[in-house]
Amino acid sequence: MTTIQHEYSETISQLRDTIEKLCTEYSGEYWREKDRKREYPTEFVNAVTELGLLAALIPEQYGGSGLTITAGVEILKAIHEFGGNAAACHAQMYTMGTVLQHGNEEQKQRYLPRIASGEIRLQAFAVTEPGAGSDTTSITTTATRDGDVYRINGQKIWTSRAEHSDLMLLLARTTAKDEVKKRSDGLSVFLVDMQSARENGMTIQPIRTMINHSTTQVFFDDVVVPVENLIGDEGKGFKYILSGMNAERILIAGECAGDARWFISKARDYACERHVFGRPIGQNQGIQFPIARAFVQAEAAEAILDKACTIFESGAASCGTYANMAKLLTSEASWAAAEACMQTFGGFAFAEDYDIERKFREARLYLTAPISTNLILSYIGEHELGMPRSY
Ligand SMILES: Cc1cc2nc3c(=O)[nH]c(=O)nc-3n(C[C@H](O)[C@H](O)[C@H](O)COP(=O)(O)OP(=O)(O)OC[C@H]3O[C@@H](n4cnc5c(N)ncnc54)[C@H](O)[C@@H]3O)c2cc1C
Repeated sequence: MTTIQHEYSETISQLRDTIEKLCTEYSGEYWREKDRKREYPTEFVNAVTELGLLAALIPEQYGGSGLTITAGVEILKAIHEFGGNAAACHAQMYTMGTVLQHGNEEQKQRYLPRIASGEIRLQAFAVTEPGAGSDTTSITTTATRDGDVYRINGQKIWTSRAEHSDLMLLLARTTAKDEVKKRSDGLSVFLVDMQSARENGMTIQPIRTMINHSTTQVFFDDVVVPVENLIGDEGKGFKYILSGMNAERILIAGECAGDARWFISKARDYACERHVFGRPIGQNQGIQFPIARAFVQAEAAEAILDKACTIFESGAASCGTYANMAKLLTSEASWAAAEACMQTFGGFAFAEDYDIERKFREARLYLTAPISTNLILSYIGEHELGMPRSY
């Protein structure tokens, strides 16, 4: 192992220790209470921020730790492996990447150090719309230039954490779809100041869901955003969002990998402890094999996730295939582990106190969001295997 690799694994191991300690403080009881009340886990998010974990990927020159995406994955994985839920704050890790890669120096200086210090949160990422769904280029929210400002009109849905964020990364159409050569042209990305927007035409409506995810729908009625809040060039926003989505998929795959480890560990322990018919239930192949299979699946998924990180870190533009594969495999592995864990715990799996039913609900999300399994398969079919586009 080279010195750099050694130092890196030391960093990861320290991060894991820190997170394990944090998750002991914010244990199942904390998450159950938040889940029951559908409350944002402010205390946990503040603690993660104070530890600098959410600033891990922000370069040192802007006040972050300048770590790689591998470290980001390890942070999110550890939070989930030790029983926490990073969904309340994970977006900051990938949304800031859009500002970092495509914002101008003035924007980076204005926002990144304050995001790194925790003074402001960039947790809201507004892409999905009710009428467009997975077909992002069909979004109809518009941003119309009017002198020194853009006027935003339209609606977003599933904008998670909008009520708990100071900034929103917004994708909107600046040129009508029928006026552009390619349907992915004419879309632009904006940083929206939430307080100012809420005072001038933005309305946020929470959506109650089967998990505690603070998700919302957001309505824009002539919301004014200054021109200086446009990220990069007007009309090229789809490309910027796509590059950020690879990071999003890889980081969320980290959470899924952590969930898989949590379920497997719980199931293994219980399978050894619980005695029925005078022997541990784990002695029965019907209980043992699904747990063992989930472990195999999770290990294989993590190997692909590692590869996705390596390709991402090499700067290769073509990390889409591995980012998508990592998300698909880890979400399916965590779901298989969740199912094995539910079955292993029998009736007790349904009792809130064991945290399994809550984690089971939470793990299901990742087969659908941030991108559904079908859309990943259509990406692989088209871009990796050269088959006709399926949509
Ligand atoms: C809790 C939660 C939080 C979310 N947070 C955010 C957020 O913060 N920001 C944000 O922008 N979005 C967010 N989303 C939205 C999420 O990214 C979308 O729900 C997801 O991408 C799927 O889109 P959709 O719900 O519109 O499904 P649709 O696009 O309506 O699809 C429905 C089903 O049809 C399938 N399907 C559609 N087209 C095809 C096709 N051509 N081939 C095969 N199958 C197809 C899909 O795979 C899916 O299973 C969130 C969603 C949820 C549930």
